[in-house]
Amino acid sequence: MFKRWSAFLVPFFVCSQICIGPGCAPDRQDNRPNMILVLVDALRRDHLGLYGYDKPTSPYLDSLAGSGLVFEDAWSQGSQTVFSTASLFTSQLFPPIAFAPISRLSSGITGSTEETAKTINVMVPIDLTFPTLLSETGYATAAFMNNPNHHRFSGFPDIFDEAFLLIDGEEFSTTDELPYADGATMVRRLTDWLAGREDPDQPFFVYLHLMDVHNPYRPPDEFRKRFVTTAGIDRYQNAVPTKEDLPSPADLKFMIESYDAEIAFADSLIKEVHEKAEVSSSRPLVLVVTSDHGDEFLDHGGLGHGRTLEMELLRVPLIVSGESIAPRNEKGLVRMVDVGPSLLEIAGVPIPSGWDGRPVFRSMPASETNIESVANYARLMSVTTTEWHAIWDRQADSIVLHDRLNDPEGLIDVAGDYPSVVTDFRQRFSELAKDRAEMRRGVRDMMDDLIRRMNAVEIREETEEQLRALGYVD
Ligand SMILES: [Zn+2]
Repeated sequence: MFKRWSAFLVPFFVCSQICIGPGCAPDRQDNRPNMILVLVDALRRDHLGLYGYDKPTSPYLDSLAGSGLVFEDAWSQGSQTVFSTASLFTSQLFPPIAFAPISRLSSGITGSTEETAKTINVMVPIDLTFPTLLSETGYATAAFMNNPNHHRFSGFPDIFDEAFLLIDGEEFSTTDELPYADGATMVRRLTDWLAGREDPDQPFFVYLHLMDVHNPYRPPDEFRKRFVTTAGIDRYQNAVPTKEDLPSPADLKFMIESYDAEIAFADSLIKEVHEKAEVSSSRPLVLVVTSDHGDEFLDHGGLGHGRTLEMELLRVPLIVSGESIAPRNEKGLVRMVDVGPSLLEIAGVPIPSGWDGRPVFRSMPASETNIESVANYARLMSVTTTEWHAIWDRQADSIVLHDRLNDPEGLIDVAGDYPSVVTDFRQRFSELAKDRAEMRRGVRDMMDDLIRRMNAVEIREETEEQLRALGYVD
């Protein structure tokens, strides 16, 4: 099978353009909406009021949910930012992500002997991302990014007309206490951009990444006072803690309360962005709020995210608000790869063939059978259906099976009770592994070109330090 994403490759150093619509000229008399996609990093679905949480973490999102579109069963394609956001932008279940050895980078990061095995993420450039398609059909596109995985030669900033990297060593200096630009700073940059647009009639698409809910949990005082009732120590680590490192009940409560306070902070920022964007233009506005993955608080014995593909990490919130969006609670299964096609449909842009996602905001596809979500990380792969969540450990060749109908949090492995279901999933994983292997082969073949491209971009040492501080560089 010809790998689909490879058909979308951008020739290196060549600007690829597609042409959609008569003469490619955007129709300025149209009523296409402005669109904002807010991605709250590490936000668990089940810590929002609209999804049943019992603390007031999300008053604004709850109010949007009352008049908007809420997806009850949305799944991310990864439990770590790189894979999840690459799937979001490319609508590919196995997005073309490569890990380039830092030792081969000539600019900025040189690496010592011990560092030769270290890698840094880069997305192979493909021109059919939904932001590039929006840009080529007349949208002004801008990204406000503060996750170090979206560093300047990661390929992510390149898919926007303008990308503001509020990452340490790029356009921003962080502190030890807070290793990313806080949400208030992000929102200020965004609202400055809105106010300074030269052509306010041009429709825009804005991507806003908020890191506040990601560890370390350091909520502003106003929110800390409202949510944190327990004295404790933040024992966050991205691992299964040893007995010595295990948070005490008070520590765990303190961490969760601090996490909740960050969610309330993010909720207030989304309100500010929404209100300011609505009055910034006469165009209608569509707001989408989601997350790239959740965070674990010993649900499966661990803390953090990125090591497992359990439900608390893959189930994400997905809320859509806008005049053209009919209010509804959608129970059908949707994926991160469906967001791009949904936004293209709203903007009237044809959806490329070969994408894994399908549009779901206007309405769910009729008579859909066997819809599944796929997630992938290191040796793990998962497939989720409305009935099951199966996780395959490739090295051990073992499958964990959760019965979604009877065990909605995925705490019990029932693989031994359903041998024929496990056999079916084993077959499916074997097919998906071929797709994944093909992607990885293609990416490996391009490594020399990728290194050349990355070496054409400068990186500052602070960026590497930042990646290490957040655990993204080994
Ligand atoms: Zn993330």
